[in-house]
Amino acid sequence: MHFDFAIVGAGYAGSVLAERLASQSGKKVLLIDKRPHIGGNAYDYYNEAGILIHLYGPHIFHTNSPDVFAYLSQFTEWRPYEHRVLASVDGKLLPIPINLDTVNKLYGYNFTSEELEEYFKSVGEPVEKIRTSEDVVVSQVGRDLYEKFFRGYTRKQWGLDPSELDKMVTSRIPTRTNRDDRYFTDQYQYMPLHGYTKMFEKMLDHPNIHLMLSTDFREVKETLSYDQLIYTGPVDEYFDHCFGKLPYRSLRFEHKTVDTEQYQPVAVVNYPNDNAYTRITEYKHLTGQEHPKTSITFEYPQSEGDPYYPIPKPENAELYQRYKQLAEQQANVHFVGRLGTYRYYNMDQVVAQALTLYKKLIGAESLEDVVGTKEKELAK
Ligand SMILES: Cc1cc2nc3c(=O)[nH]c(=O)nc-3n(C[C@H](O)[C@H](O)[C@H](O)COP(=O)(O)OP(=O)(O)OC[C@H]3O[C@@H](n4cnc5c(N)ncnc54)[C@H](O)[C@@H]3O)c2cc1C
Repeated sequence: MHFDFAIVGAGYAGSVLAERLASQSGKKVLLIDKRPHIGGNAYDYYNEAGILIHLYGPHIFHTNSPDVFAYLSQFTEWRPYEHRVLASVDGKLLPIPINLDTVNKLYGYNFTSEELEEYFKSVGEPVEKIRTSEDVVVSQVGRDLYEKFFRGYTRKQWGLDPSELDKMVTSRIPTRTNRDDRYFTDQYQYMPLHGYTKMFEKMLDHPNIHLMLSTDFREVKETLSYDQLIYTGPVDEYFDHCFGKLPYRSLRFEHKTVDTEQYQPVAVVNYPNDNAYTRITEYKHLTGQEHPKTSITFEYPQSEGDPYYPIPKPENAELYQRYKQLAEQQANVHFVGRLGTYRYYNMDQVVAQALTLYKKLIGAESLEDVVGTKEKELAK
């Protein structure tokens, strides 16, 4: 069978493009994934106890983009959810990002916001030029808070000291002098009411989309017939690692169900110092599911395994640039998504990236045109 598009990867990047091309442009699409399920890393499912869990770690949806929110709202209803994280430090559970309560509870102070600002100024170590992840934190909140909340966590997460990591890693986490303990401040913070997989099922339920799961593109590519290829797998793998492997950090997930209704006070507790794992997630906080038992996941960072986080170091960015140049020379092949562009993206950013590619493919003027007005009405 001949297809207009073959798409590798049924995560956000591949599924959004398959959906738009099939439903809006009448294209015949073959969507391939080597995993036995759709949804990519956002895949969720009911485990043996009947609890909805995320196979690849907690996924929390948040965005500032009305277009992305409007687009996804066609395929799911939402459950309002604001993410809050606690860190286990010195035997206490304290809010992270660091805020007024974090400092007061940790040290037994009674600072006001103004006093905390002064305190940060007094303990922050001046750094001439902020280059590394250590510089970002130490200059803002001083060495003690850096060591208690960031150093150990980052070393576990990346297998590198923050002094060796690009500033972007810790720049993503703000420091607050008020009592706002939300992890994200985006305009739209929701979880899909019936889960991510249900949302993907709805997106891909179209007669023009032919789904091929448990199939590695590399093993079938010679047998396929298509006009254009959209590739959301690892860009270096596409080119047989011809310039060498792009380094990734991976994770091992240990999923458990325990015989208690609630395990911890919030969805995610970070363990910056003790224990080999970085964090524990309890899903019922995210999904709102009621159940006499509860399911939790421990995350152990590791160097081998599925590619999850591109390692942000200048030499890796340079290596990616070489693959990018090669990618740009391919006729009728489009690289998109987290792995296709070797960049850590949140789900909403990948949706935006995929809609942007669709816009380019059909020659539309703006993202709004691509999402459609009917969908925008839905978001109101
Ligand atoms: C632990 C973790 C937690 C996260 N938490 C959040 C969060 O809270 N909020 C948020 O917004 N984002 C989060 N993310 C990011 C989110 O997972 C990504 O933004 C999103 O999954 C990217 O979608 P994608 O389509 O680019 O890639 P993926 O979801 O990785 O999909 C790529 C797909 O391509 C398939 N593939 C690869 N190679 C081949 C091949 N050769 N043949 C066939 N198929 C192939 C893979 O099997 C995969 O299913 C998290 C990521 C991780 C790792």
